[in-house]
Amino acid sequence: MTSLKRLVIKVGTSTLTDEEGNPNPDYIRRLAQDVFELSQRGYSPILVSSGAIAAGMQALKLPGRPKTIPQKQAAAAVGQGLLMHLYSTEFGRLGINVAQMLLTKDDLTDRKRYINARNTMNALLKLKAVPIINENDTTAVDEIRVGDNDTLAALVAALADASALVILSDVEGLYDHNPNEHEGAEIIRIVEKVDKTIEGLAGEAGTLRGTGGMRTKINAARICAKSGVTMYIANGKQLNAVRRSLSGEIGSKFLASTAMPLKSKKRWMAFSLPPSGAVTINSGATRQIIHGGKSLLAAGITAVTGSFTSGEMVEVVDEYGTPIARGIVNYSADSLRQIMGKQSTAIEETLGVAGPDEVVHRDNLVLTAHG
Ligand code: GLU
Repeated sequence: MTSLKRLVIKVGTSTLTDEEGNPNPDYIRRLAQDVFELSQRGYSPILVSSGAIAAGMQALKLPGRPKTIPQKQAAAAVGQGLLMHLYSTEFGRLGINVAQMLLTKDDLTDRKRYINARNTMNALLKLKAVPIINENDTTAVDEIRVGDNDTLAALVAALADASALVILSDVEGLYDHNPNEHEGAEIIRIVEKVDKTIEGLAGEAGTLRGTGGMRTKINAARICAKSGVTMYIANGKQLNAVRRSLSGEIGSKFLASTAMPLKSKKRWMAFSLPPSGAVTINSGATRQIIHGGKSLLAAGITAVTGSFTSGEMVEVVDEYGTPIARGIVNYSADSLRQIMGKQSTAIEETLGVAGPDEVVHRDNLVLTAHG
């Protein structure tokens, strides 16, 4: 399968731009060289590039990072074009076509649009063009934003069925202590599992020019692990950073989960689709779902929150309120409130119409907290 070698490279704003926020042509030239070499070695590289807002700020001579949404959108609209111009110039020198793909959350949450984006990506890779992806900042407002490019890159890696995501940043990797406060802080070379300890190391971050930080990178690692994608974080300013992080010479490597990676549709359900409500289930149903591989039945449901119709995504939470799974529900919230706690045989009598035994069928259910 050709997709086995798909490689997503995320370049952060602080890596791509100089102190003033100008996109750095020398850096993009080196990146083009890296991408060229990687494609010679049989990889299909896909870039997720930040830097549009910073480049626009600089071109428009804005004094600081814009605060209002329209200002950010204006900066992105100016900067995105400047960025793409540089990409196509520098990659063009090596005979590589670049393709701009601007995505919003809707492109990832709406199943039709998701498949459409995936088809476009497949067509581009087949034509040996390098997709250069960014969030469509010009039209995206908060409700329809992914919000940061680390998360976007992980979602893209899942969408593209990539084998790896390399995040190029201004940090060397994930440290075991805050390197600004602890002199002896060391880079964790291999992270086997993103657990609470690892999440605790993320702290808060974000630089003046970018929006990320370690928190969003850890979130990206979580998505990658579940999707069967190995993730790397390395300092993008290092020479041949991508190749050297893949070979383990620099940076941190986050292993993909050893559990079966989620299949494409389930990845989309777990990470891209926002839940419209939640159902709380009792301990017996929790066990059946986590360990028994079973569907969710009405009998195990103890509470229903939110309002949703059948076919929407709901979060399944255990008796302690911990989300354990997500799934596409066969009943509306109102109907569920009537049948919760009842045997499946009572559904027809209660609702006056027959319906499926399963509230969420196993095929449409994905575990999110375990494995
Ligand atoms: N989409 C933003 C930009 O191009 C960057 C988002 C991020 O840095 O995570 O400026």
